Amino acid sequence: MSVLVVGSVGIDDVKTAEESHKDLLGGSASYAAVAASFFSPVNLVGVVGSDFPDQYRKLYQAKGIDITGLEIAEGLTFRWSGEYEVDMNNRNTVSIALNVFEKFEPKVPESYRKSEIVLLANIAPALQSMVLDQMDKPRFVIADTMDLWINIAKPDLLKLIKRVDMLILNDSEAKLLTGVTNTVVAGHEIQKMGPRYVAIKKGEHGCLLFGPDQLFAIPAFPLTRVPDPTGAGDCFAGGLAGYCAQQKTIDFQVLKEAVLRGTIVASYNVEAFSLKRLESLTLVEIHSRHEQYKSLTTI
Ligand code: AMP
Repeated sequence: MSVLVVGSVGIDDVKTAEESHKDLLGGSASYAAVAASFFSPVNLVGVVGSDFPDQYRKLYQAKGIDITGLEIAEGLTFRWSGEYEVDMNNRNTVSIALNVFEKFEPKVPESYRKSEIVLLANIAPALQSMVLDQMDKPRFVIADTMDLWINIAKPDLLKLIKRVDMLILNDSEAKLLTGVTNTVVAGHEIQKMGPRYVAIKKGEHGCLLFGPDQLFAIPAFPLTRVPDPTGAGDCFAGGLAGYCAQQKTIDFQVLKEAVLRGTIVASYNVEAFSLKRLESLTLVEIHSRHEQYKSLTTI
């Protein structure tokens, strides 16, 4: 079974207190698709400009990702530039250029329409809905979002989340969306808006998974060095979706396992800038960290 991933594909400039890198491969769909590819076949939908470097296209292909749905439009690729404070939980967007995203209307290739798992990675909720409209009864639909869309496109977002099985967002976004400061109550409020399952990410403190009448808490994998946290949330969503695609049924038990896979892939991703760490990451390393994780969290 395969995962369809739609989201942003972009070129990032990232600055931390220690390092600064330019023209990196980025975008929510890039991170999510590569993370999912460790567990299942991936079909990518997105748009880039004619300036998109060939080496980045080759990176997707090296991971076996189908890029038939990666449109090449006239103009420049989406660009984002971000700067982290010394406390890396705080990030400022320095600039954003939508470029080819401004006129983008996602088209799902015929060969992708039966993908059983759909991951609507972070982009405008209206575009996420357009992708969903073109799918042929997916088994499980996951959506990710961000504060920007809650602030500027809340009606579109509310329409979308009625149609998804699972919503992923971070704790400050959950509070912004619901107006509730308690994270557990906020999760339950979001479930009332539509999705049966909600995952609220809490950065280095892990994630809370909400199911029908169930709650599961999972810590992040503790690391001593985090050179670049960019894309951690997207990798979490991608690893989770990829794991789901391997499963016959998707229920709360399977989603507990899935958030663990997402957590592990995300923990590797933050060990280097852009997708550098995931480029060389192997399944053996994923299994090894899984074992370490078990001994860390079992009494
Ligand atoms: P994360 O660290 O999980 O928030 O993901 C960072 C990635 O999101 C970067 O690679 C950016 O290119 C991408 N990104 C930033 N802002 C947006 C936006 N408004 N829409 C879509 N993708 C974005």
